[in-house]
Amino acid sequence: MKKLFIKTYGCQMNVYDSNRMAELLAPLGYGAVDGPEEADMVILNTCHIREKAAEKVYSELGRLRRMKEARQGAMTIAVAGCVAQAEGAEILARQAAVDLIVGPQSYHRLPEMIAKIARDGGHALETDFPAEDKFDALPDAGAAVGPSAFLTVQEGCDKFCSFCVVPYTRGAEYSRPVDDILAEARRLIERGAREITLLGQNVNAYRGVGPDGKTWGLDRLIRRIADSTGIARLRYTTSHPRDMTDDLIAAHRDVGALMPYLHLPVQSGSDRVLEAMNRGHTRDDYLRLVERVRAARPDIALSSDFIVGHPRETEEDFEDTMALVREVGYAQAFSFKYSARPGTPAAAARKQVAAEAKDARLQELQATLAHQQEAFAKSCAGKTMDVLFEKPGRKSGQAVGRSPYLQPVHVENAAHLIGTVASVKIAAVMPNSLKGELLRDEALAL
Ligand code: SAM
Ligand code: SF4
Repeated sequence: MKKLFIKTYGCQMNVYDSNRMAELLAPLGYGAVDGPEEADMVILNTCHIREKAAEKVYSELGRLRRMKEARQGAMTIAVAGCVAQAEGAEILARQAAVDLIVGPQSYHRLPEMIAKIARDGGHALETDFPAEDKFDALPDAGAAVGPSAFLTVQEGCDKFCSFCVVPYTRGAEYSRPVDDILAEARRLIERGAREITLLGQNVNAYRGVGPDGKTWGLDRLIRRIADSTGIARLRYTTSHPRDMTDDLIAAHRDVGALMPYLHLPVQSGSDRVLEAMNRGHTRDDYLRLVERVRAARPDIALSSDFIVGHPRETEEDFEDTMALVREVGYAQAFSFKYSARPGTPAAAARKQVAAEAKDARLQELQATLAHQQEAFAKSCAGKTMDVLFEKPGRKSGQAVGRSPYLQPVHVENAAHLIGTVASVKIAAVMPNSLKGELLRDEALAL
């Protein structure tokens, strides 16, 4: 067996892509190992979304180069993902130890690229957006999966938010056909998945060809997966407020398997900044949307992404974001300092926000979001909720699962329930997780 190590940076779509690359290379004799030290092939599946994420790749490559030299070159180094797409030629120029560069839309070509460098030596670079469908060229997902699995249904983005590299690195919006997704969902379920998270950079912009030849939206896809597979849990991420249709909101009301948790990034609470960001919606649009979602599914918990310090953001704009956060009340959220990305319109703006202001705003925002997250966790104490048990905990017999709201839940004497959903009473709230107890019936099954 040849040893393969894949290091994944960034979003869940990269996690999905890394799994698919491992499956693609398995027939060539590659089996996964836990570290690069002995690997014959190392793939860095990279993220370009913020400068820090991209810089990490170069420092990791320095480390790998030294490892490769110590082994007299017996290691193939590949860079995949969005940094490969955006900076492929630069990577080859800066780091000669790299053998392969492959973008997110061309990784199905890895086997022929590996064969080419084995035959001819030198480097191989594929960063085209090929005409053939990557998903058609990939082997059927066959590897064992955990109880919670990802399934990419949509890729790319046509929205061109001012700050974002995704439309350039992942290309135009593309939705997979419904039948292909259903077949993959069934395979994942056969291999142990009890929860599937449908993935897309703009997942609710999904418009795939249905079995009837018509275009289906995400709502129909969700209903079909739920009805025809009987999966216990469904989620989707990441959605854009502009694509949150009434039909999709209705699916939250009607589909029991669809978890009451929605990641709905707003980025900013200021109309001026939302416009500068080219988000295509106002603060009020977002607040009305939240109302409609909550009316359809009153127990839904909300999450969001925020950027502070986008060009032109004033203290007053930032205060609008803080006010929106207080008004909505989030169960969880991700917040970032604006990072200028080469080639995006915001990076060219003359009025950038000073680093100190960005730091102060991020601190203030994160303190409020942390407070809200804690308040939400505390509101779960004493409640009974379904937990999908995913893996053993640190203590013997303990299992760790996820609540419907994605919180980790630790439960004693529950190892036999891994891979199943069971009712749990939340006994205590820890800083980043919940502690639960099995209800009598579940405990009796011991
Ligand atoms: N498609 C999603 C949406 O529209 O909200 C987001 C996709 S992006 C991979 C994930 C998050 O990264 C964004 O929601 C945004 O908050 C953050 N992000 C993107 N570009 C950024 C930048 N230049 N600086 C800081 N954060 C950024
Ligand atoms: Fe990036 Fe905006 Fe597209 Fe989301 S919608 S991926 S933030 S360009």
